[in-house]
Amino acid sequence: MERTYVMCKPDAVQRGLVGEILKRFEQRGFQLLALELQHPTRERLEEHYGDLKSKPFFPALVEYMLSGPVVAMVFGGINAVKMGRVMVGETNPLASTPGSLRGDFSMVVGRNIVHASDAVESAEKEIALWFPNGVKNYTNPIIQQFVYE
Ligand code: UDP
Ligand code: MG
Repeated sequence: MERTYVMCKPDAVQRGLVGEILKRFEQRGFQLLALELQHPTRERLEEHYGDLKSKPFFPALVEYMLSGPVVAMVFGGINAVKMGRVMVGETNPLASTPGSLRGDFSMVVGRNIVHASDAVESAEKEIALWFPNGVKNYTNPIIQQFVYE
């Protein structure tokens, strides 16, 4: 089963959107594998966004991500990474269609409420970074029988 890392950013937590974000992933048929409210360190965030270090928006991005707690989540499913990106929408909310999380709940790229991994490899790296004690798998017979064929 493929896994993806999803994170409610500080603006989503402050705006009370955690339940909405979780609900949408659950109702789509993703399997919840891990969930934790965290107060990340600057070091953790700089590693998470390591590939963006040279971008002009990087300092503002890190400050935004440090502005409050985040909710770290891992979801499993078939094509979980690509499906997760569809759920979240485009990086810029202006380009995100209604129906996506960013398309329904955000206005600007610097406050786009939610993160989802962009590739299987980065998902596994992010899961290891945010859940260093590991994430256990478990069987969900309902999803196996009624979400998948
Ligand atoms: N970001 C920003 N300005 C930009 C591009 C990105 O503030 O011009 C922020 C935004 O919060 C985005 C995050 O940096 O979600 C990570 O950028 P990435 O390109 O990885 O977008 P994502 O994968 O989140 O869609
Ligand atoms: Mg990204």
